[in-house]
Amino acid sequence: MSTISKILIANRGEIALRVLRACKELGIASVAVHSTADADAMHVRLADESVCIGPPPSRESYLNIHQIVAACEITGADAVHPGYGFLSENAKFAEILEAHGITFIGPTAEHIRLMGDKITAKQTAQELGIPVVPGSDGEVRPETALDIARKIGFPVLIKATAGGGGRGMKVAKTEDDLMEAFNTARTEAAAAFGNDAVYMEKYLEKPRHIEVQVFGDGAGNAIHLGERDCSLQRRHQKVLEEANSPALNVEQRMKIGQICADAMKKLKYRGAGTIEFLYENGEFYFIEMNTRLQVEHPVTEAITGIDLVNEQIRVASGAGLSVTQEEVVFHGHAIECRINAEDPRTFAPSPGKITHFHAPGGLGVRVDSGAYAGYKIPPYYDSLIGKLIVHGRTRVECMMRLRRVLDEFVIDGIKTTLPLFQDLITNPDIANGDYDIHWLEKYLAGKQD
Ligand code: ADP
Repeated sequence: MSTISKILIANRGEIALRVLRACKELGIASVAVHSTADADAMHVRLADESVCIGPPPSRESYLNIHQIVAACEITGADAVHPGYGFLSENAKFAEILEAHGITFIGPTAEHIRLMGDKITAKQTAQELGIPVVPGSDGEVRPETALDIARKIGFPVLIKATAGGGGRGMKVAKTEDDLMEAFNTARTEAAAAFGNDAVYMEKYLEKPRHIEVQVFGDGAGNAIHLGERDCSLQRRHQKVLEEANSPALNVEQRMKIGQICADAMKKLKYRGAGTIEFLYENGEFYFIEMNTRLQVEHPVTEAITGIDLVNEQIRVASGAGLSVTQEEVVFHGHAIECRINAEDPRTFAPSPGKITHFHAPGGLGVRVDSGAYAGYKIPPYYDSLIGKLIVHGRTRVECMMRLRRVLDEFVIDGIKTTLPLFQDLITNPDIANGDYDIHWLEKYLAGKQD
């Protein structure tokens, strides 16, 4: 067991603060890194030490492996937590750290690579007994596209092997649309990822997005912590997440959870992971696995009472998981709202200075945010400025609490997505949990008419 005594947090914003809080509670020293644009950020103020790693563009700071390794050496950090985004799913980064004798708080480079390529990930999932979306066996070439699409059955979805963020993805409703969709997907994939390889899947018309949180100790023991429903999305970006999913009953939850935990045992997976599914007519279809902590992890923490970052650090130090599957108990319901610095109608970014900031409180309320009155949101990074997580004994109690809490939250000086959630919380479909992955975009389009 390699004890960890000082963790460098290779990230910024709310997640850097989140990791910092876990370090403090564990009595582990923390190092913040930051670009020149983030010198005043909360995670920099609260960390034991901080190192400036470069100018504002991410490429030159938060994605600069050389600078981050140098910051570890200067401060004597013996581990790195990558947060989400940036270098969190970069296998080379994990390898370079290990080569320097620094612990990467995450899975092995091999597992990051395995899940980073979508075709390999899907094949691996299938071999591990995880249900996948019917589709092509690997890459599809133009000559065979029509034959394969006919076999799968229209509508089909053409997806980039190297895909991410919904790019390089096109639907073909009929045979007549196929070649145009196919060629557009390839061109987009080449431009976005420098790789034009595409594959094909059955297009699901009204699925929900349901993902399972898994955790492995790297030695063949693994558990699941239930699911999150992230169906409320705009442009493939999650907006609101909840646990448990309103669509599943206990048997369905435990069944898919066990399938995922068993798969992770076979893989000897280490650390936190999320297995993402589309869910339609009672069936789960694997779409991808994220080999890192997710933005929406707090809803799982709320219903299980388990600190996922603490668990990641434990596992990385070789101490194993703190709980067995039998000890994981689900309590009540939790909802997370992603508060973005964006116009709530057009979603245009709204960086600038926050003049007033008042976070809500009370039983079952959590705000994860690095924002404060006087904080200037830099224009260089994503627009997430905080997450509001509300927990209740039932979904109804949770929704009632959320309504109260949204009215208490004050963020002045910039535009935020808070009003969007105030609208959503009064909607009957949301109240009934009756929504799929297209619901939000249709709702927003309807409001514009
Ligand atoms: P990316 O890595 O680009 O985000 P994903 O495979 O995770 O790609 O898919 C992103 C989103 O695209 C999903 O959340 C879902 O909304 C939609 N999607 C993906 N595959 C399918 C499919 N077979 N049928 C319908 N929608 C899909």
